[in-house]
Amino acid sequence: MQTKNFSTMHKSYKHYINWQIANLGVILLKSKKEGWKVLIKPDVLIKTRRKTLSLTINQEGELIVRAPEKMPINEVYNFLIKKEKWIKQKQGHIINILKANEKILNYEQVLFLGKLYSVVRVKGIKKVSLEGGFLCIPASVKPEKVQKTLKNWLNLLAEDIILDRLDYFAELMALDFDSVKIVASKAKWGSCDADNNLSFNFKMVMLTPKLIDYIIIHELAHILQFNHSKQFWDVVKSIIPNYKKQRELLQGSNFLLRLFTGKP
Ligand SMILES: [Zn+2]
Repeated sequence: MQTKNFSTMHKSYKHYINWQIANLGVILLKSKKEGWKVLIKPDVLIKTRRKTLSLTINQEGELIVRAPEKMPINEVYNFLIKKEKWIKQKQGHIINILKANEKILNYEQVLFLGKLYSVVRVKGIKKVSLEGGFLCIPASVKPEKVQKTLKNWLNLLAEDIILDRLDYFAELMALDFDSVKIVASKAKWGSCDADNNLSFNFKMVMLTPKLIDYIIIHELAHILQFNHSKQFWDVVKSIIPNYKKQRELLQGSNFLLRLFTGKP
C-alpha cells in the first residue's frame, strides 16, 4: 500500500487530508469528517507502449485505463482524480441506460425496428409472431430457450431488411461493394474492409429504420473514404443531413450489442 502526501493532490480535493492507493488500485481518500472513503476504482489498468494516458468507459460501465509503461503509478492516479467528474458522469450514464432497459436485457421485452414488444409465451401457436404490443413465443419453447428463439427470429428477418436497404442505398450512392455478410457481433454494428467487403450485425433490426439506414450509409461511405475524415462525414451528410443526431442515438443504443451473446 502506498501513502501519498496530500500536497500532490488535485486542488478540488483540498478538504481531504490524505489519500492512498490501496490494493487493486482503489483510491482511498481521507477527510476529517468521514474518514477513509473509496474514490475511483479503475477496473482494468493496462501498461502499454503508448505515450499518453487514455481512459475508456466500456459498455459495462467499467473504467479501462491505458498508461505508458514508464509512467509512475502516482501520476496515473493523479490524472484519474482530475478526471473524476467525467468518469462518474460517463459511468452514471451507462448505468442509467442499463437500469432503464433491464427488461430488454433480460429478454422480457424485445425491440424490433425501434418498437418495444413484451415477450409472452402463448399456448396453441407454433411460430414466433407479433401481435399488438406483444411478441408471442410458442409455450412449448422452454424458458432457457427464449433467448435463442428470439435470436433466430431476429436473424431471419435481419437478412431481408438489411439487404433491401443496402441495395437501395448502394444504388442511390452509385457504389459497388464486393460482398456482404450478416453477422453476430457484440462490438460492432457494421464494418467495411479495404476490399469493400461489408458486414452488418443482425442486431441492427432492433433499431429504428432511420438508424438502420444510418449504419448502412456509414459503411457504404467507407468505400469512398476508408477513414472518419471530414470528407467521409461529408459523404454521409449528403445522404443524411442530420447524421449527427443518428450517430448520437446509435451510441445510446450500444447496450443492445450485449444481447444474444449466449449468456443467459
Ligand atoms: Zn466508420
